[in-house]
Amino acid sequence: MQKQEIPNKLDERFQHSNTDQDMLEKGAILQRDGTFAIAPHITGGVITDFDMLVRMADVAKKFGCQAMKVTSSQRIALVGIKKEDIDAAWQELGMKPGAAIGLCVRSVKFCPGTTFCKRGQQDSVGLGTKLDEKFHGMTLPSKFKIGISGCPNMCMDSMMIDFGAVGMPRGFKVFVGGNGGRQPRFGQLMAEDQSPEQVEGILDKIIDHYKANAKTNERLGRFIERIGFDNFKDKTVAGLWH
Ligand code: SF4
Repeated sequence: MQKQEIPNKLDERFQHSNTDQDMLEKGAILQRDGTFAIAPHITGGVITDFDMLVRMADVAKKFGCQAMKVTSSQRIALVGIKKEDIDAAWQELGMKPGAAIGLCVRSVKFCPGTTFCKRGQQDSVGLGTKLDEKFHGMTLPSKFKIGISGCPNMCMDSMMIDFGAVGMPRGFKVFVGGNGGRQPRFGQLMAEDQSPEQVEGILDKIIDHYKANAKTNERLGRFIERIGFDNFKDKTVAGLWH
């Protein structure tokens, strides 16, 4: 069995957050009772390999899990793995860990969009899959979430997430700096009528600037507040449309 690829190994600068005894290197999250949850990466929560679900269920049974929990990041967590079983469980799963902890791109959520949903106006599955391949697990100054919605119903909370895109008739709207948590914040409109390639280009610029200039644990929205939205736009997307 090949060695598991663990995210969050790219940039040591951002690997000193207190994770309360989570085992970052094993993608294992401490539970109340001292056992761990592990959550394999499932791109966008879309499962086309049905045997994979069977395998996950078999692993949950074999290692005496208490539950399989569908998470807000479109994963399925195996809850209740004993510390000494974590490596063996990953071996049997043969899947990569989702970046559920640490300072990194935690999740790229996307909705069914024009692939499945009758309301879809843009291809959120295509864009989300591309962004997931490129950014999932990338180390950053703070946790960073991405939500791609196929229409203005915004089922992926695209205005309540660090980087969101929303499908409209003529392209995607892009929002930045949203978050939930103790100090919820709405994302701000960064661009409209963007193609998937342009959305990716905007995210490239934002991540470069954020990574180089934000403080550790400074969420994107707080970073934008500190430097100013106009300044942030000047430093990121200003050159893209000239
Ligand atoms: S955001 Fe729109 S396209 Fe996506 S699932 Fe919701 S209704 Fe469907």
